[in-house]
Amino acid sequence: MAASADDPQRIVIENCSIATVDAHDTEYASGHVVVAGNRIESVGAGKAPEGLAGVVRRIDGTGHLVTPGLVNTHHHFYQWITRGIATDHNLFEWLVALYPTWARVDEQMVRAAAQGSLAMMARGGVTTAMDHHYVYPKGSGDLSGAIIGAARDMGVRFTLARGSMDRSVKDGGLPPDFAVETLEGALAATEATVDAHHDASFDAMTQIAVAPCSPFSISTELLRQGAELARRKGVRLHTHGSETVEEEQFCKELFGMGPTDYFESTGWLGDDVWMAHCVHMNDSDIAAFARTGTGVAHCPSSNARLAAGIARVPDMLAAGIPVGLGVDGTASNESGELHTELRNALLINRLGAHREKALNARQALRLGTYGGAQVLGRADQIGSLEAGKLADLVLWKLDTLAHASIADPVTALVFGAAAPVTLSLIDGKPVVEGNHLVTADEDAIARDTRDEARRLARIAAGA
Ligand SMILES: [Zn+2]
Repeated sequence: MAASADDPQRIVIENCSIATVDAHDTEYASGHVVVAGNRIESVGAGKAPEGLAGVVRRIDGTGHLVTPGLVNTHHHFYQWITRGIATDHNLFEWLVALYPTWARVDEQMVRAAAQGSLAMMARGGVTTAMDHHYVYPKGSGDLSGAIIGAARDMGVRFTLARGSMDRSVKDGGLPPDFAVETLEGALAATEATVDAHHDASFDAMTQIAVAPCSPFSISTELLRQGAELARRKGVRLHTHGSETVEEEQFCKELFGMGPTDYFESTGWLGDDVWMAHCVHMNDSDIAAFARTGTGVAHCPSSNARLAAGIARVPDMLAAGIPVGLGVDGTASNESGELHTELRNALLINRLGAHREKALNARQALRLGTYGGAQVLGRADQIGSLEAGKLADLVLWKLDTLAHASIADPVTALVFGAAAPVTLSLIDGKPVVEGNHLVTADEDAIARDTRDEARRLARIAAGA
């Protein structure tokens, strides 16, 4: 029987290390978390309070670290079925190689790819996922509905950034003509998606953002009217920005200014905006993001895979810019895991100007949890372990060969190998148990995604 608000079912986790990622980075060497219904009821040192009613499960967390669930802030689910292609290309070459294949996706392929992407992230501790989907070929079916359905069925909290492209080769853009929508079509479909699916409530499992793809694939008018649409509807705005030197050059040639100035001129800086990558940012770009509260989705593995460069994350954090982590699409980050991005963010930033002072393990964990919640506009609800917040949390197993001899649990999680997930709760419900998904069949998803990847490759080859 479902728990009512007056009489919640409780899950008690005890004897574990806890990193709350609250404002003071409070940690407990041995503590407890009590979950009541879909909320965190208490977090603290030592054992849980005595005499709690309605305890349906009591977990001995010995050898584990509990953290907030990971929050992914940039992804393209459909790319799950085009992994391992154009592996030695920069961004523009890689896009041109892949667009013709991507333009052949249909609803069945997109559903399978969404399941694959979600499963891979969820089993690695992601509790809030996002998908920036911007390829909507004519007659391909209800792609947004398929993606949202996949997240709902798996029980993963989710933001769909409804993307779009309307600047093709004939208008000086990068995608082929057959891969884009019209301005009017893209705006109408985005508005319909917001109306049908966006949930503004505290407990929302599904939210929608307005997300034209990138300066080199969209018209200035789509940016302008997209921003107006998002603000009229009260939803967030997302796009790609300042990813590569080639993009910077493109903006200067076409618009007479760099990407950040171009975004500002179209209404695309603000505390309701987050942007993926932001690799090529000068001091005045960083100041503009800080002044306006614009957020950043840092995608270190994808930036390395496409040789884009190193984003200035330490400078962004010092300026007060909200920064989260993203896996980016799995055609440019084949692993599709977010917990490994904690490590990659830390290591890659240490190769930049700030060297060993760039990021520490706690900052990396914060990027992947609270920072992500901030850029998705949900920092009041998720991203840290605090009484009253939603019960999205992960129990990481750190007492096996991979981690048992590492001195500190947060260091073990960030610097060590990818840690197994003993339990992941989303909205108070188990999604991973014993390092396996309980809400979906991983083997069936693996088979489906392989079949759909082959079907897409066949269709693209015959096109
Ligand atoms: Zn991307």
